[in-house]
Amino acid sequence: MKHLILSRLFNQNKSVMQLNNPQLNAIKKFKQKIKNGDYLFEKVPCLCGEKEGVIIATRDRYGLSVPTHLCNRCGIMWTSPRLNESSLKKFYENDYRPIYVGSPQAPDSFFREQTKHGEKIYNFICKHIESESHSQLKVFDIGCGAGGTLLPFKNNGWLTFGCDLGSDYLKRGREEGLILENGDATSLSRYGPANLVILSHVLEHFPHPLESINQISELLNEDGYLYIEVPGIFNIHRTYGDILLFLQNAHLYHFTLFTLSSLMSRAGFKIIMGDQIICALFQKTKENIENENQKNEYYRILFYLYFIEIFRRMNILKYTSIFNKALIPVKRTRNMLRKLINMIW
Ligand SMILES: [Zn+2]
Repeated sequence: MKHLILSRLFNQNKSVMQLNNPQLNAIKKFKQKIKNGDYLFEKVPCLCGEKEGVIIATRDRYGLSVPTHLCNRCGIMWTSPRLNESSLKKFYENDYRPIYVGSPQAPDSFFREQTKHGEKIYNFICKHIESESHSQLKVFDIGCGAGGTLLPFKNNGWLTFGCDLGSDYLKRGREEGLILENGDATSLSRYGPANLVILSHVLEHFPHPLESINQISELLNEDGYLYIEVPGIFNIHRTYGDILLFLQNAHLYHFTLFTLSSLMSRAGFKIIMGDQIICALFQKTKENIENENQKNEYYRILFYLYFIEIFRRMNILKYTSIFNKALIPVKRTRNMLRKLINMIW
């Protein structure tokens, strides 16, 4: 079934992205490094221990070889084989930004976008966290890029600290007086404990998400908050419109709100608020959190992927005008399918 409906995700073709020349060159360089053996890969199981799951794709949006598995036990999607830990570090230092953004240094527009996004996060946080006063609260942004997300917090009296593995982008934030470290979460431990940690589009990049969350938990005070954004599987049809655009070699794990909440509960966090986009706020707790049946999530994801791929294929019909009349029933089916997808997911 998957090879019939999802066959497009198994073709090692060229990129489905519109790329500029620096990006094309960066991909070429990266592929050459893999060929030369500068980068090494490792096979990994799902976060629940399941070894194989169901393979749903072997490529990503850039046409890179990225085997993606869907776990038939817990519903998490993961990449295997993937770059091993030392290769991942090299990838983030040298290839990630040139491939994904097309520029090794943070352009001003990137910093401004981060700041704008930071304002949204700030407003969301103020609505949902319990605190007498927001002054002198402490926030860490892990995987902060240029650090722009922290600026609205700083301007509202928070103590702000950030870290990132890529050093070039940090310069831009430091110019704004932000304290930004070159490293992972542990590089911020001397500034802790924090009231809030932000992981904006970062968790999906972590090779060991559960260990990383446990590590981050140590940076938080007892009832601290963790704000997480990851690209939600059930939001693919709204944000990307195409599963292939969603799949990218830097993303090692993919979640729904349910699978993310289940993972967070394993690290001692309860959900305060969240959606399928995914933007979600968690709080450290000592309570025991019950997990529902995870098997259902596997089926929900599998059928969702089938549905949106069939829907995308039917989308091509809008470009054919010759058989307009004959296509009316197909178009009606497509509209029904769209309603169904929006209703269920
Ligand atoms: Zn699993």
